[in-house]
Amino acid sequence: MTTAIVLALAAGFGAIASEECGQCSDAALCAAHQVAQAAAVKAAKPKLRGGDPVDRILAVQELARINHEHPRLPSSEIAVLAEAALQDESMAVRAEAAKALADGMQPETAVRSLVSALENVRGDLAKLGGGGRFGQPDGEEKDPKVQERRKLRDEAVRYARAIVDGLGKLPDDRSVDALADFLPQLSFRSGGELTDGVGKSLVALDARKGIEALVQKIKLSPAGAGPFGPDPTGKTLHDLLTTSARSKGLADPPPWSTKEPPDWEKWFAKNQKSYAAKLGKYDLEKMRKAKAKA
Ligand SMILES: [Zn+2]
Repeated sequence: MTTAIVLALAAGFGAIASEECGQCSDAALCAAHQVAQAAAVKAAKPKLRGGDPVDRILAVQELARINHEHPRLPSSEIAVLAEAALQDESMAVRAEAAKALADGMQPETAVRSLVSALENVRGDLAKLGGGGRFGQPDGEEKDPKVQERRKLRDEAVRYARAIVDGLGKLPDDRSVDALADFLPQLSFRSGGELTDGVGKSLVALDARKGIEALVQKIKLSPAGAGPFGPDPTGKTLHDLLTTSARSKGLADPPPWSTKEPPDWEKWFAKNQKSYAAKLGKYDLEKMRKAKAKA
């Protein structure tokens, strides 16, 4: 076949998803779809290096769209490009890449890159601390240094949230470990905005180690006011755990009290068998099964 014919075929095939193609299989895309995908990726690539972060966000979204054309056979090349975008100088571009990776991209690259991204942003958050949040409220803050620090911190928190939400969609022991390790770092004073996201993702992953981490965090969080005022950490996680217990039909979750943290340890000792001891690795087969169920 001449190149011209292949390209003409590819243009026509671009719009047809691989499931409807008949020539594409779970093992490989057909020749025409391969050519169409390669051409689309080639067109998106230079935009990833554009000077404006908005253009780079659009490029990441374009790659996600191309990847979705073949949901049963995610592209390794696209996943690697999205992984590289996690190093973008703009946190907003990184956040878009994290979201895209968790949404149907090649599972191994998605898990590995988001676990490592969480590690990195944890370091950034630790350095930024509370971002001077306990001085003047945002509108009244005059010190440009504090303003800049708050802006950086807000961006880092949004990026971390995209990673945390993403890991909650990737049922793999490495996702559970990364989120469970992150939980002790979160406090009302530093990273408190992320408590809810980490809790939701750990509940969604439904693994024993993650639930255990929530139980420990509730135990260590002040039930009433903490040293910096009312601390919502314990109550937020308590509510998430209660919802999880009810949705699984597990009896007698402990009630909330403002006097002392509720005793989830006793409950957990009785009910831990209802949570998976191991999730194993998230792979293509698991991803296809989850898609078929959805
Ligand atoms: Zn095809």
